[in-house]
Amino acid sequence: RAKAEGRNCYRIFDAAMDEAVTRRRELERDLKTALADGGLELFYQPQVRANSCELVGFEALARWRHPTRGLIPPSEFIPLAEETGLISVLGKWVLRTACSEAARWSRPLKVAVNLSPREFQQSDLPDLILGILSETGLSPARLEIEITETAIFADRGRALSILRRLKALGINIAMDDFGTGYASLATLQAFPFDKIKIDRSFVGQVEICPQAAVIVRTVLGLGRSLGLSVVAEGVETAGQMRFLIAEECQELQGYLFGKPQPIASFTEATGGREGSDLAIRVSPARDV
Ligand code: C2E
Ligand code: MG
Ligand code: MG
Ligand code: MG
Repeated sequence: RAKAEGRNCYRIFDAAMDEAVTRRRELERDLKTALADGGLELFYQPQVRANSCELVGFEALARWRHPTRGLIPPSEFIPLAEETGLISVLGKWVLRTACSEAARWSRPLKVAVNLSPREFQQSDLPDLILGILSETGLSPARLEIEITETAIFADRGRALSILRRLKALGINIAMDDFGTGYASLATLQAFPFDKIKIDRSFVGQVEICPQAAVIVRTVLGLGRSLGLSVVAEGVETAGQMRFLIAEECQELQGYLFGKPQPIASFTEATGGREGSDLAIRVSPARDV
């Protein structure tokens, strides 16, 4: 009897596995289609100067509008794209779209683009980006690349040579999600970063967790010592904003200033072309 039940268990397990495999295959097929047919879009989240709330740029964040499953978050389709090799096509699309959209904005704001670890390992990346910049006419000084600690960890030598070439082109480089990965302080010193983004798991706790406040303060001090600017991500409350301003954080990003949205939602004028009359200042929302 026990044996029979065991077999049943396997059967249920097998069925669940089959379903997961099928769903994955379908998603992979649909992602390919989306990449070919314009099923992906970029949302933009404002980044503001901390002491003035002046808009300094936007982070581009990919969204997939699936025909039957609705909006699929990047946490689901970026890993899928990495595992299936679709990431290089997806990454090119993101870079090209972000650069060509930003080139049409009414003001020369920065645009930050995320690169996943796999994309970052392509040694022709600098040439690819150079090609996109000249194709779209975006000035390299307006482009910021965001990479995580994992991207560097995989192959430090290659990472360093890619970053040096990007830096030589005049592109800005930010370390994303700082504090959650493996990067040592030596990495920050040896690699040509311009900016550190403090992970929102710390920012979200500064008012309620003394250790988180200490960590944020330490990262800000580190940024000052190394001459790197620091952005706090995931700022949601006026209290967090006040803490960050008092600690001299340079830039803020988070729901308090706006959720990621299509660029048209940040234009002040109605009826203008997309990206025209971009807001100069972002007023913090009431605490969300
Ligand atoms: P990330 O680069 O760290 O982006 C910040 C994430 O935090 C975004 O999630 C954003 O919506 C979210 N966020 C921003 N402010 C707040 C806040 O105040 N509260 C909360 N709860 N969340 C906030 P999203 O858009 O879901 O993206 C998740 C991750 O997916 C990104 O993390 C990035 O690693 C990756 N990703 C997104 N777009 C792309 C892309 O085009 N290419 C690559 N390679 N990765 C991407
Ligand atoms: Mg990012
Ligand atoms: Mg981040
Ligand atoms: Mg993140």
